[in-house]
Amino acid sequence: MCMRRKMAKAEWCGQEGCEEAVKEKTTVTLMVMPFDEKAKGPCFRCGKKALHVAYFSKAY
Ligand SMILES: [Zn+2]
Repeated sequence: MCMRRKMAKAEWCGQEGCEEAVKEKTTVTLMVMPFDEKAKGPCFRCGKKALHVAYFSKAY
């Protein structure tokens, strides 16, 4: 059996509300990586200026 973890990158504003919304809808785990990587685009959910680059990890 093979367990695969899929990582999806997303830019996130950092607000808990956006994180909670993802958790409610899906089974993904949101992980914020403290890399130097800077968010350039809008938040994946609310569209506000993103402050973090987060990774979503989905276990299958
Ligand atoms: Zn947001």
